[in-house]
Amino acid sequence: MSLGPPPAEYDADWVRAKYQTERDKRLRADGVDQFVEVTAGFSHYADDPYTERLERDPVTDHTQVLIIGGGLGSLIAAARLQEAGITDIRIVDTAGDFGGTWYWNRYPGAQCDIESYIYLPLLEELNYVPTERYAHGPEIRAHLQAIARHYGLYRNALLQTTVTGMTWNEITCHWEIGTDRGDRLTANLVAVSPGSLTRPKLPGIPGINEFGGHTFHTSRWDYDYTGGDESGNLTRLRDKQVGIIGTGATGLQCIPHLGRDAAQLYVFQRTPSTVAERDNRPTDPQWAAGLQPGWQRMRMENFTRVTCGVETDLDLTDDGWTRNALALTEPAVIRETARLGREMTPAEITEFLYRADWEAMERLRQRISDVVTDPKTAEALKPWFKLNCKRPGYHDDYLPTFNRPNVTLVDTDGAGVQRFTETAAVVAGVHYELDALIFATGFEVGTEFTRRLGFEIVGRDNVRLSDKWAKGMRTLHGLQSHGFPNCFFLGYTQSGVSPNYTHTAEERARHFTYLVSTWAQRGAATVEATSDAEEEWLAAMTAASEKPKAFYADCTPSYLSSEGEKDNPHGMLANNFGGKPTDFFDMLSAWRATGRLDGVEIS
Ligand code: NDP
Repeated sequence: MSLGPPPAEYDADWVRAKYQTERDKRLRADGVDQFVEVTAGFSHYADDPYTERLERDPVTDHTQVLIIGGGLGSLIAAARLQEAGITDIRIVDTAGDFGGTWYWNRYPGAQCDIESYIYLPLLEELNYVPTERYAHGPEIRAHLQAIARHYGLYRNALLQTTVTGMTWNEITCHWEIGTDRGDRLTANLVAVSPGSLTRPKLPGIPGINEFGGHTFHTSRWDYDYTGGDESGNLTRLRDKQVGIIGTGATGLQCIPHLGRDAAQLYVFQRTPSTVAERDNRPTDPQWAAGLQPGWQRMRMENFTRVTCGVETDLDLTDDGWTRNALALTEPAVIRETARLGREMTPAEITEFLYRADWEAMERLRQRISDVVTDPKTAEALKPWFKLNCKRPGYHDDYLPTFNRPNVTLVDTDGAGVQRFTETAAVVAGVHYELDALIFATGFEVGTEFTRRLGFEIVGRDNVRLSDKWAKGMRTLHGLQSHGFPNCFFLGYTQSGVSPNYTHTAEERARHFTYLVSTWAQRGAATVEATSDAEEEWLAAMTAASEKPKAFYADCTPSYLSSEGEKDNPHGMLANNFGGKPTDFFDMLSAWRATGRLDGVEIS
């Protein structure tokens, strides 16, 4: 069919054709390989601009539990281990301090997009309530560092230290860990907690090497160049022509600051994001004072249940995430069934939810027309895909930024920047002269786990993890892999996934702590998944992946769908449990409750 302007009435065929056309513009044969790795000539993009490197002597010693990574997941795990009486813990991280994502991402405007009362971990343990509903980066980072202090984790930490490899020693039943500082560390148990959006990625645009202006990635913000700090005030950009590539969750948050301060800002857009109201506000002290013990866990669980369509009657968070879920998942079907007074067929349910999604997207597109004064710019900012094809965005200052006279949206109609010259970015033959170019282009996803990790894990019989996982991850419950005893994976490895990463990390830390405590109580040498149990979990994962695969099949590409590479064995779709996160969490909890340790050998 030929695609004219949107019809006045909802037309499912038109919508499908429109979404397909927009998706097709963006599908690329090179998929995740379109990005440049931050190694070799690009490695400086990953350097730490925040902490001066301190020299120290190499360390040679042994710890009971060594955790690689000092972010949110590792801090929760360390806290839960300590509560269980396991205190000999060492954390190693490349960064100059704790915080993980929140150590690195210090771009102006950085802010959690999940409500801070459920996103900031261990609030009750630290007797802390965030100051605003969606806290900003400095507060989150300070809280994560307060956790590290509270649990005494600095004492044993090796910061500014990058692990270079780890090898299992079958005789001592220890892991031997090497680092770039020449350390020789051993540990009974190792937890690998690298985060899932860690390694900055750059667009493989021709001439990226030739551009002679100043460049950096948003996760390594160069305040020496821009001036200002995380709250903005980028005074050194006042005479600069600045370009930014990337309009995802990060772009949404930093573009308003760049627009405010740069002499001229060019926003190079490949695909627009959805931008819903943020509605941030300071925490009500009366509400905070009335919180009862157990409140954070209850609120966190409720959010995950609502967002995956399980809880229908109680919505404690009541924000964009939960309201969308209530409108676009099973609760909406239940309401519609009641209205019709009969069961709906599967085809009717599909059509009903598709239309509900369209209506939600239409409201967001209307918001753009209402806010952005130039109609051509407004049209170019409109996203044409199902709401959850990309991580939904929330911001109140992003759209008005395009009403500023010094801000230009350069829409590339799905093609991206064509090439760079020494002084300019080129789109459709037009040269945009730039002093500086900022990459808000996200993080490596969909490549081999050990490539993103940055080192090899060598297990029993010298088997390398990169070989074992060459065709995708192989784990039991996402935490252990047969042949790699006493090694645990935290983070998003074959896990159920809540939009609130902290909840996922909590549930995994709980399971990890149970396994470690049981191992310690038994005075055992090893704890390992059996091969059979791993096979069973893989089968369950494969079955559960059908639903999300079907959802993403007609989505515009993104890191969530491996840039449209349907069968990428290293992508998020292949390597996360595709069922409801609550099913995954309940399954882990039921597994622990049996006390039988099915599929895990502790010997
Ligand atoms: P994303 O991967 O979401 O976005 C990358 C952006 O770069 C996209 O707009 C992409 O366009 C664009 N891009 C990539 N290559 C090119 C190219 N060649 N030409 C033009 N544009 C290009 O990264 P983000 O850093 O924005 O976000 C990553 C994730 O981090 C989020 O989804 C979220 O989970 C998390 N995050 C969370 C925050 C929070 O909680 N507050 C804040 C920020 C991030 P296209 O869409 O066409 O691929």
